[in-house]
Amino acid sequence: MAENGSVLSILDEYQHFLMELDTWFRSIRVKYGSSMQCGKGCTYCCCGLFDVPIADALRVAAGFQSLSPSTRETVARCARSLHAGLIRESPELEEPFFLDRISETRIDRLADRFDDVRCPFLATDGDCHVYEFRPSACILEGIPMVDVQDGPFDDWCEFNFTGGVAREVESDLRLDYSEIEATIQRFSQNLAEQLPSLPQKETTVFIPSIIVAFESFWRDLVRE
Ligand code: SF4
Repeated sequence: MAENGSVLSILDEYQHFLMELDTWFRSIRVKYGSSMQCGKGCTYCCCGLFDVPIADALRVAAGFQSLSPSTRETVARCARSLHAGLIRESPELEEPFFLDRISETRIDRLADRFDDVRCPFLATDGDCHVYEFRPSACILEGIPMVDVQDGPFDDWCEFNFTGGVAREVESDLRLDYSEIEATIQRFSQNLAEQLPSLPQKETTVFIPSIIVAFESFWRDLVRE
């Protein structure tokens, strides 16, 4: 990862924050295991195109960097093929492909258009090649989201809690999703302040785009 001490300490803190989310998710899985399919072999959450904030993008780039050369090439080949389709649909995207140039509606449409593609990091045996570096969205994916203010969101993984979520379960699933989003954004902003080549405004980037632009953009930010 970059030599900048402040960047390292922000990323350490961010990792700590993600580990807390992961610990919470695991505790739910232990308590409600019979209602959940999440676990090794289930890759349902790993299909579809989704965008990640800067803090996650840096970790994903570091994860890609950590792979063996042959795995990196396999992942890159898959990402290039997927990304070629993405650029055909959205030629206005320019390297390093941050999404601040296109509207939320357009991002959602692109995600819908590519909702059946496999994540380039998904291995053939169902493992995630960058599990230790996976984005925040991957950590919380699959569980019915119940927000402290807005209550339950409408949809969640069709393999989990198939009979619905009982009231008493809702209280266990409750998280402050606005606060989580704000925290991730705060980490992203702090990182952008330390790394001037990153966009200084709130933005996201698709996972395959990070891989495609790794050599030209991300490698310098995550070099040892
Ligand atoms: S980064 Fe890993 S956990 Fe996240 S979608 Fe890709 S393969 Fe799945």
